[in-house]
Amino acid sequence: MTDLDCLIIGAGAAGMMCATHAAGRGARVMVIDHARAPGEKIRISGGGRCNFTNLHAGAANYLSENPHFVKSALARYTQWDFLDMVGRHRIAWHEKSRGQLFCDGKATQIVDMLLAEMNRSGARLQLGVGAAGIAHDDAGFHVQLDNGKRLRAATLVLATGGKSIPGMGATDFSLRIARQFGHRIADTRPALVPFTLSGPALDSLKPLAGLAAPVRTSLGKISFSEAMLITHRGLSGPAMLQISSYWREGEEIVIDLLPGQNAGQALEEIRASAGRKNVANALATRLPARLAAHVAARAGLTGQLAALDACDLALLAAALSDWRLTPTGTEGYRTAEVMLGGIATEGLDARTMESRLVPGLYAIGEAVDVTGWLGGYNFQWAWSSGWAAGTAIAER
Ligand code: FAD
Repeated sequence: MTDLDCLIIGAGAAGMMCATHAAGRGARVMVIDHARAPGEKIRISGGGRCNFTNLHAGAANYLSENPHFVKSALARYTQWDFLDMVGRHRIAWHEKSRGQLFCDGKATQIVDMLLAEMNRSGARLQLGVGAAGIAHDDAGFHVQLDNGKRLRAATLVLATGGKSIPGMGATDFSLRIARQFGHRIADTRPALVPFTLSGPALDSLKPLAGLAAPVRTSLGKISFSEAMLITHRGLSGPAMLQISSYWREGEEIVIDLLPGQNAGQALEEIRASAGRKNVANALATRLPARLAAHVAARAGLTGQLAALDACDLALLAAALSDWRLTPTGTEGYRTAEVMLGGIATEGLDARTMESRLVPGLYAIGEAVDVTGWLGGYNFQWAWSSGWAAGTAIAER
């Protein structure tokens, strides 16, 4: 049996960050992962370029039962700290939009950077080995591995992420172990996930599959102005992924196809310049033609735009800016970028990520009930929470 000061289960974004800092003072630290390569989600993230942080990351960009929980870690290890490390490793990056930072090259540069940092600090990595079960006594944590071997560690970090993309090795291991040790799990469900539609709503949109348009999508007081993508199963694109994190089954979402504009005023302008065209063709001066035709059909209006009366114009304005849809569901964990919910924050110290129930047990990253918006916020949480736990373990 190997004796360790710290065992980290999961060599993802949070686990590797934690390992680097936990091992900084010469502690015997090991990270295990059942995957054949570390940081697989980093590798596929951001379309292969990894949206590794966001310049504007702050508590307002996260969902959690306790919205204050993220504040300490985010303030102590910031996006600028991560950017410093990226700079030290001479990784070129660019801001795409809204503070989203991506590698100019490949996402694997971020994985290589984390591996180099782990190596420098002396943390060990063992791949192709999964954790199967954990017991705890005065001698520490006893970890049963799926290869039949066992490890003993004074401190244990749960860093196995969330349940999204099970095909890539995602498991609910951290949740199961946390529950075993008495932690509550905040309800989990897929988030940052495309919506599915069915019936007439899907039938009418199917011919538009592949079409993208800027929209403002809202659910109650929450709204996002981003791109929408119509798929052959429903709705996707950043606007839909963002709002999906807030959506519950049966709820209606509202889509505004003229974000930032007053629909009534926009129709007046279109009438002045293209009033002689039929409704669909007139709207096509502002919207993609197929979408314009869909709006006209939804409003049931075919004639000349100039011939519409005030009542029809109001109907058309609503079809443009107040399009209401009730998704049937979501595509689920198969395609969700993240899992909402997780290990409830009241059981963890916000400064160190240590369990309040079992001293020496830590939980970080997506396994915790903290979910970021789309745009680099989830990785920033992984870096900040990994750093918080790692530095606390090093100081023990
Ligand atoms: P993970 O990175 O998921 O790591 C967990 C690790 O634990 C995995 O390596 C897994 O193999 C291992 N593991 C699981 N169970 C066991 C076990 N029993 N024993 C041993 N090992 C185990 N976020 C952003 O901020 N920006 C992006 O651009 C972005 N793009 C994304 C694109 C996609 C397609 C997806 C799916 C997610 C994306 N995300 C992005 C979200 C981001 O990847 C995650 O929030 C982040 O990886 C969470 O880090 P983590 O370390 O907590 O978990």
